Amino acid sequence: MDSVHVPVLVDEIIEFFKHIHGVFFDCTVGLGGHAEAILTRIDSSVVVGLDIDDEALDFAKKRLERFIEEGRVKLLKSSYVDATRVLKDLGISQVDAILMDLGVSSMQLEKAERGFSFNRDGPLDMRMNKQQTLTAYDVVNFWDEEALRKIIFEYGEEKRYARRIARFIVRNRPIETTKQLVEVLAKAIPDKYARKRHFATRVFQAIRIAVNNELENLKKFLVQVPTMLKPGGRIAVISFHSLEDRIVKEFFRTCFELKQLTKKPITPREAEIKLNPRARSAKLRVAERV
Ligand code: SAH
Repeated sequence: MDSVHVPVLVDEIIEFFKHIHGVFFDCTVGLGGHAEAILTRIDSSVVVGLDIDDEALDFAKKRLERFIEEGRVKLLKSSYVDATRVLKDLGISQVDAILMDLGVSSMQLEKAERGFSFNRDGPLDMRMNKQQTLTAYDVVNFWDEEALRKIIFEYGEEKRYARRIARFIVRNRPIETTKQLVEVLAKAIPDKYARKRHFATRVFQAIRIAVNNELENLKKFLVQVPTMLKPGGRIAVISFHSLEDRIVKEFFRTCFELKQLTKKPITPREAEIKLNPRARSAKLRVAERV
């Protein structure tokens, strides 16, 4: 887990946040990388951190121990969909800054048994929240061909071979593991087409988005932002694929209570991508509550 400790676009985020003092609401606290940077680099900051992954929260608790002892951090197991309620329960009416780092943490990717990675053999799981019942196994083995085609086409943005991939999955059932799924995909997707990106990337992305209802959750979260943020407060969102980025972009553009501070999304410098491959497709957008 060597890439675990490296949060994405951290200097850029601190640049947008550094003049803010008060409550930072880290809605995807994950392994606590961004939270740690905020707590160390921004004086008088306090962090409320959410995650739905128990393993991530355990990790973040250890990493942020010294700040927890100082009373500067509160970590809670909750979905960002319930952000407003969480704040209300804490007696906080509005926060000064919101951070969202979407996507998969390096710990989730690196643990084969979580089933997120096509490079590791594990069960078809992909749940961010292990208390959830729907798993990747259910999607792969029980959804009908048309439902599979649709998510591969829409969430995987696999426009060309979605139908063929869905057909191959259905014909090769039962599919138990990530490795078996990769083998089926290798048969379904022509070599030439697959050369550039790993051929399983889009399909794994599609299944993950479906299992965790990621796009709907993001929308449900964003509509809460204007009421959660103090005037002058800022929200920063890091996304990792164009579907998420489009949702964030549209919301920032059309929400009259927010002013965009990033006309174009900010992307990592080459040097960062070299050090941290997870940064490769990251895009940061920031907006301010008017
Ligand atoms: N910024 C973190 C990494 C975050 S990775 C760091 O620096 O360490 C993204 C995290 O979002 C994962 O841990 C994942 O479990 C979490 N997540 C995904 N969906 C969520 C949801 N609906 N509510 C809260 N957290 C969620």
